[in-house]
Amino acid sequence: MGRVVQKYGGTSVAGPERIKAVAQRIAKTAAEGNEMVVVVSAMGKATDDLVNLAHEISPVPHAREMDMLLSAGERISMALLSMALIELGWDAISFTGSQAGIVTDTSHTKARIIEVKAHRIEEALAAGKIVIVAGFQGVSTERDVTTLGRGGSDTTAVALAAALNADVCEIFTDVAGVFTADPRTVPNARKLPFVTYEEMLEMAASGAGVLALRSVEFARTHGVVIHCRSSFTEEPGTLVTEEENLEKALVTAVAQDTSEAMIRVGGVPDRPGIAARIFGDIAKERINVDMIVQNVSREGKADLTFTMPKEDLVRSGDAVRRIVSEIGAEDFSADSDIAKLSLIGAGMKTDPGVAAEMFSALAEEGINIEMISTSSIRISCVVNAMDIQRAVRVIHDRFGLEGAPAGAASRA
Ligand code: ASP
Ligand code: MG
Repeated sequence: MGRVVQKYGGTSVAGPERIKAVAQRIAKTAAEGNEMVVVVSAMGKATDDLVNLAHEISPVPHAREMDMLLSAGERISMALLSMALIELGWDAISFTGSQAGIVTDTSHTKARIIEVKAHRIEEALAAGKIVIVAGFQGVSTERDVTTLGRGGSDTTAVALAAALNADVCEIFTDVAGVFTADPRTVPNARKLPFVTYEEMLEMAASGAGVLALRSVEFARTHGVVIHCRSSFTEEPGTLVTEEENLEKALVTAVAQDTSEAMIRVGGVPDRPGIAARIFGDIAKERINVDMIVQNVSREGKADLTFTMPKEDLVRSGDAVRRIVSEIGAEDFSADSDIAKLSLIGAGMKTDPGVAAEMFSALAEEGINIEMISTSSIRISCVVNAMDIQRAVRVIHDRFGLEGAPAGAASRA
């Protein structure tokens, strides 16, 4: 007998028929003699609808009340799924995040899990029940309902898998696994049988929407193996796991991200403390800056360019406008028509040629690169938003990701 944690995303529970189908699927695994804990997201676009509703009441909804509101979405799907299982003759019980013992810090709308007190789940399992848990929510150390940030149900599932010492954490979604690129952009993208935590972290941070970034961080820290797969088919998906001792693919995937905007500050005085000043003020606004590039200064002046989430562009612009005159910079401009393309692969750590190959492929297509940043296993380029689809296809093609490149094949 095993212990299985499963998570079903919003699309998988979007309506009564789908909820019944999910119940069938759970019942099948339970009938094999497994103990089951199932995490659910809110139905379909329920969370988006609640967010929109809140904004009709208040331009900046109160964070605690926002969490109260958003946590309602998962409450609906957990109860319906539990009913569906009971209807099939199974003994099921649903728990809110708080009842499931998910304890978080107090940062509303993006709380972090600090502890999982799983005794209530353990008792229910011992009594032979299938346990359904509302994803994306917990209770803070101040006893308020919190949510874990958009997409946070993945993190709930991974945290429960760790706390309950589950044999597997299956994340069921509307795609068949992790692909070499977004199949909507690259029709011949290939499903990866296997990615490392490190690669998955870079991919999640670079716009690949399959798994929430924090869930991957949590999985890596606690050694939880994630099986990311489709809720509509039986085929195996992608395993996210520790780096194996197999030969590594040079590059694994291309990710794209159109959620960021860019600000350029021109003629910034080149003195110690200026960057600290600019980014200090932006951090005070709680804006998460992603890429930063400063060019070599000429005549004591440099240009500073950085990217941040599009929704923070207006606030960043306001902050920068204030700073520009204070520090004596010349001007600034904002651009939201940008997109980021990232090439990721654990094997590039030891290969010097990948960046040059990537840049020349883009150059041959006449695609201009506006910014570049790298980590040891990632190269990201900011390009014009108009060029992003073409850029992703060209890079996917150039690195032979659609076929079975030697490295990837040896890992399969
Ligand atoms: N329902 C939440 C959201 O839409 C959490 C999740 O789906 O993981 O972000
Ligand atoms: Mg999700």
